[in-house]
Amino acid sequence: MGRSNNMSMIENLATERVKKLTPYMSARRIGGKGHVFLNANEAPKSSIFIMNSTSFNRYPECQPPQVLEAYADYSGVPEENILVSRGSDESIGLLVRTFCEPGKDAILISSPTYGMYSISADTAGVRTVDVPPRDDFQPDLEAIKKAFAETSEQIKIIFICSPNNPTGNVVDRELLKQILDFARDRCLVVVDEAYIEFCPEYSVTDMLSANEHLVVTRTLSKAFGLAGIRCGFTLACEEIIKLMLKVIDPYPISDPVAQIAVQALSTNGIAIMKSRVAELNERRDRFVAEVKSLSYVKEVFSVNTNYVLVKFADGEELFNACVQKGIILRDFHTKPRLSNCVRITIGSEEEMNEVLSVFRSIKQ
Ligand SMILES: *Cc1c(COP(=O)(O)O)cnc(C)c1O
Repeated sequence: MGRSNNMSMIENLATERVKKLTPYMSARRIGGKGHVFLNANEAPKSSIFIMNSTSFNRYPECQPPQVLEAYADYSGVPEENILVSRGSDESIGLLVRTFCEPGKDAILISSPTYGMYSISADTAGVRTVDVPPRDDFQPDLEAIKKAFAETSEQIKIIFICSPNNPTGNVVDRELLKQILDFARDRCLVVVDEAYIEFCPEYSVTDMLSANEHLVVTRTLSKAFGLAGIRCGFTLACEEIIKLMLKVIDPYPISDPVAQIAVQALSTNGIAIMKSRVAELNERRDRFVAEVKSLSYVKEVFSVNTNYVLVKFADGEELFNACVQKGIILRDFHTKPRLSNCVRITIGSEEEMNEVLSVFRSIKQ
């Protein structure tokens, strides 16, 4: 069908911006042959949910009220301050498209951090200003202030991932207050709490009411074990939620997703999540103790989540040795400041034992 000719014509039709994009290399896209996947911070197994198909002929509500109500109960944040979306990734994209003018505005991140902030910005034609964090991986407020003074675009959003993926550290509360003070009347501060259930004492949702420019994003993908249904939340002042509702698609949450989310956020669902968290945290602490005893382990980063970032004598070699045994981890050795670092998701007991036995067989 003359596909190759068509391809170049089609390619030419795409916008300049899209031609230049490289898609997000998710763990799923990078893939790899194996039987143990500890590369995407997923829960080791799924829970059971029931489904009622009697309403599948109808369009769902844009913001299913039972989901909002359940998340309000769970989070302690009022319903009018919550937006539910297709994963928190959609929330990140909506924030960028709602607040940033293509070609004129910018977002600010501190690498190494979650990759979707800059990808959402790229997709929207918004520049990313990357301000390296301090040596302890906390945001560098002085450097952020400098970036605001020197950037020709208007920085509209500061993204702070806490706990940070992949380094695991949580933002210091006093420092966040200073950042919020600096950002007041300037821009939004988005705190990504995708992993907060593993260390709930570090949540900053209590700071929302005093800071209308603070946004917190959450998800059911990690501690709730529901990465496959795509359900996330934005917690913010009513004005921000209302603006995002202008940009969101009319039916982002399918009826089955809403049904599962309500069950996951029920009293029983939350109890299941909490016991999963307790089990994973305990398994992680035992795993970390074992890993620290290996001579070629140089550093274990902050331990707050269902993953740990480890620096090895030779990270690439270790990563490849695991691949040989069918164990897929996430290699970060090409990222700034993360040479020889590998991120390991905490999986089942059997999976972690398999990882440890490969680790023990390696000499570096
Ligand atoms: C996994 C992850 C997300 C994505 O969550 P979804 O709700 O599955 O889109 C967001 N932020 C961070 C830091 C993550 O690691």
